[in-house]
Amino acid sequence: MKRLIFLGPPGAGKGTQAQILSDTYQIPHISTGDILREAVKEQTPLGQKAQSYMDQGELVPDDLILDLIKERLSQSDTAQGWILDGFPRNVSQASFLEKLLAELDLAADCALNLEVPDEVLVERLLARKRKDDNEETIRRRLEIYYKDTVPVINFYRERNTLKPVNGNASMEEVTASLKAIIEH
Ligand code: ADP
Repeated sequence: MKRLIFLGPPGAGKGTQAQILSDTYQIPHISTGDILREAVKEQTPLGQKAQSYMDQGELVPDDLILDLIKERLSQSDTAQGWILDGFPRNVSQASFLEKLLAELDLAADCALNLEVPDEVLVERLLARKRKDDNEETIRRRLEIYYKDTVPVINFYRERNTLKPVNGNASMEEVTASLKAIIEH
């Protein structure tokens, strides 16, 4: 059973690494960013509400995300574990997740924090050319990351489940570091 939380700034490589480990361990990769982008593409009610926040680099309000996560974690493919990518992104989401898991008699195994310097992040994000990857929204997403998401790192550090990982290395090296921690 593997229940893994991926933390790290935008552009740290969470999505790439989460997908690789999801294939390796045969557990679902649950990316709130992917779920939201799909909802925007399909123009579902969720997508219509989320779109303007995402385009501006702001967090989507918690009330749009929390039910979605609760629902997703109750699906049958999560019995062997999961990888959360992009959630929790603020302390209220982290507390919600902790309570939700406690109700299920579960807890996350660890929060893997991918560390990458800011200069490298901006370079990577500009190269990626996603719709919300222009200089202004990138700057805004980094600001939000420091304000809202860095406290989540402390949340897991206090619970002794935080595992720092150097994300400023080749894709293969980062995967190897992550596996070493997960399988230690
Ligand atoms: P990145 O990897 O660049 O941080 P994501 O794909 O994780 O991007 O998220 C893209 C956008 O989706 C965010 O900028 C935000 O607007 C929204 N989003 C994703 N996850 C959450 C979340 N847990 N809470 C609020 N907003 C979210």
